[in-house]
Parts: sequence; structure tokens; C-alpha cells
Amino acid sequence: MGKGLEIVAVPAFSDNYLWLVHDHDSGETAVVDPGDPAPVLEEAERRGWTITKILNTHWHPDHTGGNLAIKDASGATIIGPEGENGRVPGLDVALNEGDRVSIGAHQAEVWEVPGHTLGHIAYVFRDEGVAFVGDTMFAMGCGRLFEGTADQMHHSLGRIAGLPDATKLYCAHEYTLSNARFAAHAFPENKEIADRLRHVELERSNARSTVPTTVGDERATNPFLLARDVEQFADLRAKKDNFR
Ligand SMILES: [Zn+2]
Repeated sequence: MGKGLEIVAVPAFSDNYLWLVHDHDSGETAVVDPGDPAPVLEEAERRGWTITKILNTHWHPDHTGGNLAIKDASGATIIGPEGENGRVPGLDVALNEGDRVSIGAHQAEVWEVPGHTLGHIAYVFRDEGVAFVGDTMFAMGCGRLFEGTADQMHHSLGRIAGLPDATKLYCAHEYTLSNARFAAHAFPENKEIADRLRHVELERSNARSTVPTTVGDERATNPFLLARDVEQFADLRAKKDNFR
């Protein structure tokens, strides 16, 4: 949690996390990737928070399906990638690399991180040590290559991995157990991966969340960051697509 920023997970569907972000100083509240409006509006109401901004990382419906209903209910501004203008419902403010978004006095840098989709962006709050990375990086995993190339995703992941180790990464899905099993399969000699797999098994058997993760943990145990080059990355990504 950053100075003054409170970040609350709102679980939705089978494995999505929608993130409510509240700045206690200004009273402003944003929601990141609201695929489903009802649980977001209920949680905001319960806390007495009014949503003023909707931040989308990419156009997929499980990230944007609540945009219009939340805007109707709260008057929030819908903010998302220029590269997916026309596919993000109700987009009011279109963002490109290097743009900034504020929640109260807290400023996020907009990064273009193509791979999962071509226009995918991340919101990087450097001063707070927090980044919302959507479906680009997951705990011990990364998003599928639906639109982009292995080269693009490899580069996008490398940028995120270049943030300071303590940076908290808020990804959009609880995929960690399946990711950890694949990581242990792909890197059977890696003791840090084996240790983290045991930890994730314990957490999930107690229905506890494993998100957010940190850049340091990912640099140590994310198989897609351990790939020595883009060829190995592409090979791992293809194997993960078929891993059970
Ligand atoms: Zn997606």
C-alpha cells in the first residue's frame, strides 16, 4: 500500500480480481478493470467511497464489462488505452505511453505493454511502489499471447521486471497455483520455485489470495522471466498453453 492509497481486491467471476483504489487524502476512488459492476458498486457503497475513475488495462470483457454500469451509477470517467479505442466500452480518456493518470495527488505513468493484447497498458505508481499490470504479468506467470508476438511480450515483461524489487504488482487473476505447478515442471532444479509452490499450495488450500506479488519474487521464480532469451520465452509460453 502506498502513502494514503488503500487498495482493495474485489473478487469476481471464477478468478478475477477487480481493484478498488482509494486515496484517503482527497477522497478520490478509482477502480481498475471492473469486469463486473455489481460487486464493485457494492464494495464501494459499503465503504462509503464514490468511484470517480475507471482505469482499464485492456479491452477484454472481464476487464471492461462493468464500465458503463459503473459510469451510470457514479458518473465516473472511463480511462483506457488509445490503442483499443472502439473496443473499450465508453472510453472517455484515451492514453498512450508516457501519459499520466492521477488518483488524488498520486500519479501513475502509463506504459504500453503489448503482448496479451496489442494495446494493453499498465499503470505504474512509482512513488507508491505499486503497478497495475492487468493480464501482462501474473504471479509466476504471464498472459496468453492473444494478439501480440512473443517478442513484444518478452519486452513488456522485461520492463515490468526492471521496476524496483519491492514494487507490488497487482495483476487481474488468481492463476498462481497453476502457474507455480508449471514453473516447477519447467525448472525442476530451482529451489526457490519449489519453495514458492509449497507456499502457494498452502495459501490456496486455505482460500487465501496470492496477489499482489512483488517484482523481486517474480524475478526469482517467474519462469517467463527466467527464460534466457525470447526463443526460450516463446517455447515456455507455448508449453504453458497446453499444460494441465
Ligand atoms: Zn485479458
